Amino acid sequence: MLHNLVDSILNVKKQHTLGEVIEFSGIALHGGGNVNLRILPADIDHGVVFQRIDVSRNTSLIPATWDMVNDTVLSTTIKNSNGISVSTIEHLMAALSGSGIDNVLIQIDGPEVPIMDGSSEPFVYGFQSSGVVEQKAARNILKILQPVEVFGESGEHIALYPANDFSIDFEIDFNSSAVREKTLDVTLVNGAFNHEISAARTFGFLEDVDKMRAAGLGLGGSLDNVVIVDGENILNSGGLRYEDEFVRHKILDCVGDVYLAGGPILGRIEAYKTGHYFNNKLLRQLFANPDAWEWITEVNKTAHQTSELMAVSA
Ligand SMILES: [Zn+2]
Repeated sequence: MLHNLVDSILNVKKQHTLGEVIEFSGIALHGGGNVNLRILPADIDHGVVFQRIDVSRNTSLIPATWDMVNDTVLSTTIKNSNGISVSTIEHLMAALSGSGIDNVLIQIDGPEVPIMDGSSEPFVYGFQSSGVVEQKAARNILKILQPVEVFGESGEHIALYPANDFSIDFEIDFNSSAVREKTLDVTLVNGAFNHEISAARTFGFLEDVDKMRAAGLGLGGSLDNVVIVDGENILNSGGLRYEDEFVRHKILDCVGDVYLAGGPILGRIEAYKTGHYFNNKLLRQLFANPDAWEWITEVNKTAHQTSELMAVSA
């Protein structure tokens, strides 16, 4: 039963890669420079790996996994043991998660993924036009077996629970009259990420912009790639894409950050006021407890079912 449930709910039972090489160019939100991305198809069990092509080849690879995360201030940064890093990976990771892509090599000529329009949608469109190709190996799915909970000092909390699908229930609490819709509970199946979440843009508050720039962050930010809130007004000429675009974007970030688990999650996330730091802390706490999770595949589940049947008939 579990076998069929997982297949129908996560909708993908085989590993997938891209049909062809795809390229993106754009500005780095925090660094401000122009960056080029080249995303290449990769073999089974390769995973998502970044490669900095502007540094020496033997120091350039950075696997996109939770244990490589070394900075979570305003974006998620991964760094390898040679000190080579790439930041603002979360919207691209979310697009890979939402598109069911397991194996790609992401070549990049700078230290930060381009922000594009502030959402995951340009990446999702790119993947769809490139084509997503099934590979001859079962997908590894991270099944949550025990609850994992992380609490912050200012009331923040995030938790991961066993479930038969992948869902996120998020609540934000910004002290702004422009942020009206504060909660969303979404089950991320059957393309729901691509259709409901991927277009939600990153956002910021006007009063924070000067502080960020002084700290050398947000240098590439503009109304073309960030929703800017000024009091009760949205400064972007088109307004919001959704009434609840803010909480949708927080879910987008969470989807991208938890894809650093190394595969899709069979579990439910409940989050309150959290961001990149807590998303990573959740994974660290999860993987610190071997009883809280297991990797499952079609093969293992079949074997498990067979042994159950044998036990019943014996
Ligand atoms: Zn974001």
